[in-house]
Amino acid sequence: MKQLIYADNAATTQLSKTAFDAMTPWLLDEYGNASQPYALARKPKKALADARAVVAQCINAQPDEIFFTSGGTESDNWVIKGSAFADPEKRATITSAFEHHAILHSCAAIERLGYPVAYLTPTAGGIVSPESLKGMISNSTRLVSIMYANNEIGTIQPIKELCEVAHAHGALFHTDAVQAVGHVKVDVKELGVDMLSASAHKFNGPKGIGFLYIRKGTNLVSYVDGGAQENSHRAGTENIASIVGMATALKENCDVIDSHITDIRGMEHRLIDALSDAQIQFVHNGNNETLPGLISLSFAGMDGEAILHRLDLAGICISTGSACNSKNTEISHVLQAILLDESYAKGTVRISLGKNNTISDVDAIAAALIKVLS
Ligand code: PLP
Repeated sequence: MKQLIYADNAATTQLSKTAFDAMTPWLLDEYGNASQPYALARKPKKALADARAVVAQCINAQPDEIFFTSGGTESDNWVIKGSAFADPEKRATITSAFEHHAILHSCAAIERLGYPVAYLTPTAGGIVSPESLKGMISNSTRLVSIMYANNEIGTIQPIKELCEVAHAHGALFHTDAVQAVGHVKVDVKELGVDMLSASAHKFNGPKGIGFLYIRKGTNLVSYVDGGAQENSHRAGTENIASIVGMATALKENCDVIDSHITDIRGMEHRLIDALSDAQIQFVHNGNNETLPGLISLSFAGMDGEAILHRLDLAGICISTGSACNSKNTEISHVLQAILLDESYAKGTVRISLGKNNTISDVDAIAAALIKVLS
């Protein structure tokens, strides 16, 4: 049988076997509700505290600054809505035009309620510049939310500098780091951010679990109301198995992050070199500083959908844009935001390599692309 080559790791990743093994006891034998006072709840309660400490350590936060959520979408909704609703004066939110829809649609929701939102335009190279933020921010800005790395083109944003601009104007700063956590070193203290979103299924953890880092003292109202879980900030019985799986997967990735980055960069260069050597004409989008392994390529006059389907027939999974956009044949809002010429935008594919990919996968992807494009 033909071996599947999975190169769509920005959409989701395969669950790590170590994380899976760490999860199973909490699904079967240790099913107690961590909020209960009896003995059966003791181990889940401890597992929850241990996982929180592991996650905190991986991003250089304190354990009580980590709040478990159902994933990146919920964390982003919480920040945008929870920040707006904490402000009776309805001060403004600033974000960028090429954020994930979890941010953009949350912003649209608060705009409908009368909270102002302004959208920064990234450069053609896929960067939100601190200068552009300086030009838009004012003392009536409450929150600035800029993604750590773009999910379609992989560009890493100058978060520390953007954060400094926000703080200089008394605004809070959030970063959607869903694509970055577990793939590059993320240190919340060094960045200076007030809030940071992450999602386990992007770093070989389970789906439907994530977290929001909230720096101590940040004023954010709760978004999911109910019980007193997560220090009364995010209600709902804790999903211990998934939380343990997430912490295990994150630690597994963070422990080897430097060698992982070196390996993936090597594969990335091999792919680009193979296409160049075969005289394939392409634009490598946002190639200044990108996430390791996230390669966005545009082929003028080609159809990205058709390339995706031809590779699918060869047993290779890639994407045309973000997974959330894959049913939409329109040009993605990200490629529109960086003003990519339409003939290139329509011929754009995203190849996202992960820790399970090998050199031979990359060679097979390059050969398949060359065949389709020659
Ligand atoms: N933010 C970014 C940048 C993403 O890439 C994604 C998923 O693709 C999300 C948020 C949503 O995360 P989740 O799938 O955990 O809801």
